[in-house]
Amino acid sequence: MTGRVVVVGSANVDLAVDVPRPPKAGETILGDRLRRSPGGKGANQAVAAALAGGADTSFVGALGDDEGADLILVSLGGAGVRTDLIERAEAPTGTAFITVAPDGENAIVVAPGANDHVRIGAAQADRIAEADVILAQLEIPLDVVAAAAAAKRPGARMILNAAPSRELPDSLWEVVDLLVVNEHEAADLAGEPEKLLKRVPAVVVTLGGEGCAVLRRDEEPVRIPGIPVDVVDTTGAGDTFCGVLAAALAHGHHLPEAARQASAAAALAVTRPGAQAAVPTAAEVAALEG
Ligand code: ATP
Repeated sequence: MTGRVVVVGSANVDLAVDVPRPPKAGETILGDRLRRSPGGKGANQAVAAALAGGADTSFVGALGDDEGADLILVSLGGAGVRTDLIERAEAPTGTAFITVAPDGENAIVVAPGANDHVRIGAAQADRIAEADVILAQLEIPLDVVAAAAAAKRPGARMILNAAPSRELPDSLWEVVDLLVVNEHEAADLAGEPEKLLKRVPAVVVTLGGEGCAVLRRDEEPVRIPGIPVDVVDTTGAGDTFCGVLAAALAHGHHLPEAARQASAAAALAVTRPGAQAAVPTAAEVAALEG
């Protein structure tokens, strides 16, 4: 049976430039040629859930009425993501300004634009009620994340990728079944990852090239080692991870197996430039896993 995932989140046009090193505060440096590509944590994760995870995936987001919106719709559609629930806002499509250093590390500033206008109306709530997994991030208003969680059916899972770091109200913590964070986000939220288990039943901490850790209440932590690869661009590694994790859980895999699949997909993504363009197919992920 194909798992059903609804991703609620941002869509951005990524404007990326390779730089010899990250600029310091107040400094101007010369980079390489400008690259324009579809991105945004929500849209990236939806592409990953559909293309690399093979889930029946719907994207709930908002776009402007501009060329950036077309770029994103083509990418989502090409990956097989359902785009019928996307709202058109009277604001420009979100835009992310990205610098990529030679070691693949990136720095990002987002102008949210239309992402501030995502909403959960009747159609979105109906689709969420049919989903096995709902996946959200923090590049959209927090009340939209809460509304998405409120629309899920009993037994479905709410995954929150708490990125970028923001303080969360108690009402939001209460509806999260699984939290996905990198080490910095974990530190921002709780100081140490284990403390997060006081607030949510399960946490996956991504550890870059070191893979990830799966933490659950009343169970031993599980470490999933990273897969050694040649790093080209880490943009979207975390998003590929989250999308495939959601898809694998929707397909019925248990959490450590889902995290293993997510790690393999994310390792492939860092070997390629871009965010959505770097997402591998399910066949490529299966080949890497052997
Ligand atoms: P980003 O913001 O760059 O998208 P992130 O900080 O949210 O990423 P990371 O922990 O850096 O998240 O990476 C997510 C996952 O991607 C890791 O758990 C790992 O599976 C994979 N990954 C990241 N970097 C590497 C790497 N250098 N080699 C292999 N796998 C990697």
